[in-house]
This record gives sequence, structure tokens and C-alpha cells, in this order.
Amino acid sequence: MLSRMEEAKESELGNVTSENEKTLEEVVQALPSDAVNHLVSLGICVRCIFRVFGIEGRVYASPSLSPSVFASAVEQLPPTEDNNNNKHQLCTLCLGILQFTFRDHDGTILRNDDLPLLISDMVKRDGYHSDTFSLEVSIPPIILHNDNSLRSYMKIKYGSQPWFQERCISTKDALKFSLQHPLQNLLECKSTMGSFRIRLTYTASKDADKCLDNAESCKRRKTGECNLDGQKPSSISLENESSDCCKFMLEMPNEPCHFAYSCYRTPFYFGGRYLKYSRNVSQTRWIIDDERMGEASVEEIIGGNILQACQADSFKFHAAGREDIDVRMLGPGRPFLVEVQNARQVPSELSVKDIEKKINTMENKLVRVKNLKLVGSHGWDLMREGEAEKQKQYAALVWISRPLKDEDLQHVSSLKDLKVLQRTPVRVLHRRSPLEREKIIHWMKIETIAESSQYFLLHLCTQAGTYIKEFVHGDLGRTHPSIGSMLGCRAEILQLDVTDIKMECFLT
Ligand SMILES: [Zn+2]
Repeated sequence: MLSRMEEAKESELGNVTSENEKTLEEVVQALPSDAVNHLVSLGICVRCIFRVFGIEGRVYASPSLSPSVFASAVEQLPPTEDNNNNKHQLCTLCLGILQFTFRDHDGTILRNDDLPLLISDMVKRDGYHSDTFSLEVSIPPIILHNDNSLRSYMKIKYGSQPWFQERCISTKDALKFSLQHPLQNLLECKSTMGSFRIRLTYTASKDADKCLDNAESCKRRKTGECNLDGQKPSSISLENESSDCCKFMLEMPNEPCHFAYSCYRTPFYFGGRYLKYSRNVSQTRWIIDDERMGEASVEEIIGGNILQACQADSFKFHAAGREDIDVRMLGPGRPFLVEVQNARQVPSELSVKDIEKKINTMENKLVRVKNLKLVGSHGWDLMREGEAEKQKQYAALVWISRPLKDEDLQHVSSLKDLKVLQRTPVRVLHRRSPLEREKIIHWMKIETIAESSQYFLLHLCTQAGTYIKEFVHGDLGRTHPSIGSMLGCRAEILQLDVTDIKMECFLT
């Protein structure tokens, strides 16, 4: 309750500044003035000084953090760039990252105290809608090196002081503290781990990289570790090391990093089941020699509608198993997932229903979806498991070369869990290796067609992976037994529908 009241208080703009300034003042007052003075003289920026002392939070977001903030706490400030507009002194530790100074894409050096505004403008321009954002910051290794050098130096110089602590806030975290709160206000959304990411990438100049390489090889040649995270050499050698380190840090090229920023959304998934009513629609887009096979694909119909609704860059369609282009998918439908990449928006539950409705009311009625919904990334695991189809039910329109007899009906329906040997069908030999597999036909039922003695509907339930067309006509003896061999006549399959799929794992 109290925190909500505090939030309400802070949301009044007038209070934000005074609250912040008070906090900033308190923070500054608590710092040891001699050490601060020393760090300022080393050319270290205000935010870096905060992080050296392990300070966290919104104080980093205070506007215009110039060394003058230390004026009250520090007796004598060294001459700084404060009132000098000609040249801004770049921080020797963060190389300007925490001063919002950087090189832009064409190399121009910019200092932009409105970095949050620059970022929020990009997000809005790119058309992203989100309730949350999270910052991904990438910092060049030289900054880490600088931090380590300074930390070693501080430990030697101030290690015995009561205020000294090893903990230093990373440049990455300090940048996040500086940007999170202003961005929350500008974007009107919360900073928390979600699918929408803002990526800030800093890269060091080539000179800085070269310098770092030299320093690293120089360090390797010495025996003591410069970095105090490693072993602890004697205090004398430490003293030497630390002064070397600090000297090195100050000799580094004082050049701002190149800065690039972008945003994206991590993939999310739609799950559901599809029905295919056409014998001229493939499951995925199917092109042979620049020629499209079939009039459309399930992938394009479903994925295309989702892509448009989410304003995404692209999508990937994954289905649990497949059926041939000329086989309809009926009954409860086949489970599928659509992976949506870099969407500008994540649809609400209501808009998901709208997408489903839109697909289902398309004029051509080739494809329908059921139970369309957003599923977490676990949907993908479910799908992989789901690929282990267990049983499938079909309805096949069959022709035989002689009239159907009553005993045929009884014979066929009496067979339970019939074992069938299938050699790889002739029609798929070009893409599948020649193998012999045993499959099980769980049950069969013949449904006669009025006034037609040589045509009938064969309903059958089989183990997943059974080649149904071959089971009917025998594939020149490569499938045995077959409907043809059992009835002692020629059998042809005219049409086939999948009417049910029992999955290992049920997705919907
Ligand atoms: Zn700095």
C-alpha cells in the first residue's frame, strides 16, 4: 500500500526532480571526499565514480551529472570541462558510455543527454507495441579491463579504509540504471524481462583494441596478476602492479566508442490444429522448377494471416506430421505451431480469435484452424513430442476390379491389429532410402456406397507412418498383405482423407 502511494507521489512530475536531487545529494554526501577528489582528477565521470563505490539505482538517471555535483562534498574540484563548451572531457574509465558520448554510424562524435529520448523515438518509429521492455547492453572488453585496473588500484590505495568495498557496479548495469527509468516514462511500459528487447551495442575503436592487446600480452609476461580476482602476490609487487595498471588506463586512447542501437522481439508461438478441405493444397509452400504445386499451402494461409496481424518480419510453420497434397485433413485436425519472428505486436486473446475467424471465413475455404492460441516456447517441445504420431484414422474411396461381396465386409472388419510389411513405396523411392517396415492396421470397416458394387469407402485406423495408398493397391507386391491381395482382385485408391490423429502428446 505504502509503495503504491510512493509511486503515485513520484508520478507527479514536480516531485520526481526534488526526490532525485535529494537522493543525489545524500549519495554524494556519503562519499569519502578525498577519494572522490582523486577519482575526479583521474578523469573519471560521475556515474563511474558512483559505480566504483557500489552505488545502485535511479541516482544514475539524474539529469546532467557533471562533476559539479561533488562541489558540496569536495573542497577543491580540479579544473574540469564543466563550463568549457569546446571540448568535453571523456571519462577515462567508461570512454564516454556513461556520459552518453559516442560515435554514431558515420563516425561523428555526439554527446546526447537525451539518450533515452533517442531510443524511445526509434522504438516508436519502428512501430513496436509492448507492455514491457528489457535492455541488452554490449560493452567492449577494454571497459572491463579498465574496471579491473582501477579496482586493483583502489584496493591498494584505499583497501584499509572503512568505506572500501570490493563490489563495483558494472558499466552495463550503470547504463541500465541510467536509462531504465526515463525509458519507462517515455515508452509508458515496464522494464522487465519480456519478449521486447532494446539492444545497445558499444564497440571500441581499433586503436583501443590494439592497446588492449598490448596490455594483455604485457600482463602475461609479468608474474603477478594485475586483476585482484586472481592470486594475491606480495604487497610490494602489488604496489608496482597497481601503479602500472593505473598508468596504463590513463594512457589508453581517449576515444568514444561506436554506438549502435536497435530493437527486436524474441520469437513467440501460435499453436492450434488445422483442417485441410482441398486435394490441391500442400502443407508447405511447394515449388518445383519455379512452378507452384497446388493452388495454395496450409503454411501460407495460416502463417500469412498471422504475419499480417502481428506485423512480423517472418514466420516459420511447423506441423506434427504431414499428409500428401491430395489427402484432406479432417476430423479434429493436425496440430501445428507458427513461430512468429520479430513481431511489432503480440496480439491479445481477442485478436487471436479474430485471426482464427479471418482464416475460417476465407472465401476459398481451403483450410480451417481450430483452437488457435498463443503458446509459450514450451509449445515447441510439445510439438517435437507430438511428432511421434501414434495412430491415424483414414477414410479412403476404393475401387476394386470385381463386385464387392458380403463376405468381404465381414472378412475385412474381422481383422484386428493386422501386421503389414511395407517396402519403401515406388513413388517416394527418389527421396527415401529403401527399407522394409512392419506397420499395424488396427482395424478396418467397409462402408458400401448405394447402387455401386465396385466402389466403397474403407475406414481404417493404422499405426502412424503406414503408407495407406500402397496398403490398398499393393505397390506391385512391395506392400503385403494389401486390400488387393486380401480380396484377390485389383484395388485402386481414388481419394483419401485423414479423419483423426492420435498423438503421443496432445497439443491444443
Ligand atoms: Zn565513466
